[in-house]
Amino acid sequence: MINRKTVAVIGGGVSGLAAAKAFDERGHRVIGFERSHDFGGVWELSRSYPDVQTQSPKELYCYTDLPMPDDYPEWPKGPQVHKYLHSYADKHKLARLFQLNTNVQSMDRRADGKPGWTLTLEAAGKTWEQDFDFVAVCTGQFSDKNIITHPGQDAFTSAGGTVIHSSEYTDSAMAEGRHVVVLGGSKSATDIAVNAAKSGAKSVTLVYREPVWRVPYFVGGINFKRLLYMRAQEQQFNSWGRSGLARVIAAVFQPLIWANFRGLEMLLKTQLKLKKWDMVPDVPIEKDISCSVPIVTPGLFEGFNDGSIKPIRGTIDHYEPGYAVLTTGDKVPCDLSVLAVGWKLGVPYLSQEYQDKLIEPDGQYRVYRLSVNPDLPDMGFVGFNSSFCTVLSAEMIANWLVRYCDGQLAHQPTDKEMRDNMEMMLNWRRNERPAAQIYGGLCSAPFHFKHFDELLSDIGAKKHKRSNPLAEQFSYPNAKAYGTYLASAPQYQAG
Ligand SMILES: Cc1cc2nc3c(=O)[nH]c(=O)nc-3n(C[C@H](O)[C@H](O)[C@H](O)COP(=O)(O)OP(=O)(O)OC[C@H]3O[C@@H](n4cnc5c(N)ncnc54)[C@H](O)[C@@H]3O)c2cc1C
Repeated sequence: MINRKTVAVIGGGVSGLAAAKAFDERGHRVIGFERSHDFGGVWELSRSYPDVQTQSPKELYCYTDLPMPDDYPEWPKGPQVHKYLHSYADKHKLARLFQLNTNVQSMDRRADGKPGWTLTLEAAGKTWEQDFDFVAVCTGQFSDKNIITHPGQDAFTSAGGTVIHSSEYTDSAMAEGRHVVVLGGSKSATDIAVNAAKSGAKSVTLVYREPVWRVPYFVGGINFKRLLYMRAQEQQFNSWGRSGLARVIAAVFQPLIWANFRGLEMLLKTQLKLKKWDMVPDVPIEKDISCSVPIVTPGLFEGFNDGSIKPIRGTIDHYEPGYAVLTTGDKVPCDLSVLAVGWKLGVPYLSQEYQDKLIEPDGQYRVYRLSVNPDLPDMGFVGFNSSFCTVLSAEMIANWLVRYCDGQLAHQPTDKEMRDNMEMMLNWRRNERPAAQIYGGLCSAPFHFKHFDELLSDIGAKKHKRSNPLAEQFSYPNAKAYGTYLASAPQYQAG
């Protein structure tokens, strides 16, 4: 008999919806808290910048039981993703489980000594405490803005200039007739630079620190989903936990792997004319691929070519009235400075005592399967295994987490197994694959198949691969098929 638990789900984005569904369907009493007025997280309309669209193709950005509508484009726009998430919430009647406009201020172990956590909640000016047996944390990696300032900013804004975070660029009209400087090299930076150039900005300057490998939607005319999401490709990266034999095989094939990636680099350099723009990264592409690798915003290189976007390698040194002065010495006309400098990763509502157990001094998270930590019992993360197909990875880990919570994993890890595994993963990230340290180590890309294999094996799924080995080796993860793999695991109900 599995006890029915009262489970808090914090966050109502992609991951919160997946977690609410997974815990609800096993019979738990779920109460979700979302501080915004609506579901969607990063796709919630008031937080999205104009023209935002997915990086993942639509087949790779959906839940297992709900494909994106046929009439959606290959890379859906933000409002379409938002609508899709609502249709998922409707399909599984998830709205009844959530309290919107409700902020989780803090969480601490229950004072009554029982297992679980006490959440301090705040809504409409009222604060109260509520006890839970288990907490699924689904607050994502993009909830707290990274705020930076540069010398001279006050005088710059007093003289009529504006400085905003990228998430505040919600209307193209902000750029019209203005000199725009975008700081950053991520996808949001390039999306905003392109949008500003198309929206009648007087000038657009993209100021970035280092060139990074960017992948266009079509590489040499082929949709990148057919190139970069394959098991065959994934196996060429140095993943964690490789056996001695796997390392020997990798060493034997090393020349071929090396040639494959040099070929890919050559293709990207030629297609995007990276040399012309002094944008050839120093790091070999196979060492760099992780969740932070941006997809090329359509119109970016065209904007460089026609002069509507000027790329400059450097950063902002200080502002002067009407100008951003860069570390290169360039004095760039500037009315609107958009700081696409990302988000502060963290769990600020978790008491410091537990943050210290969770996060290493170098910012790396100690999490088993990117979800749980034995020093933080009765809780787990959903969506902290971000990937190139985060909807699917959130659903996979949500299904893993509910079984972990109920002691129903076919292989329920021991305390020692979790600790050993966390150490091994930390060691791998620090010494073998530094790119995997991005976002505190909370990224499963490009190792989607390996991560999902581990989760399905833990869950006890009887099936975890397509029956056609060639299709399995050379095709991208199929969300619907993963639904059948999850269904092949032992099913149970709490209560
Ligand atoms: C512009 C953009 C494009 C992207 N495109 C892709 C893509 O193509 N493919 C891909 O795989 N990933 C993409 N991502 C990554 C994206 O973050 C994930 O795909 C996914 O949306 C994350 O969902 P989440 O629910 O984990 O987090 P979020 O969407 O960040 O949701 C977290 C929710 O938690 C809420 N919350 C936070 N703190 C609290 C609190 N204390 N109390 C109550 N509620 C709280 C927030 O309000 C938010 O609604 C993109 C991200 C951005 C920003």
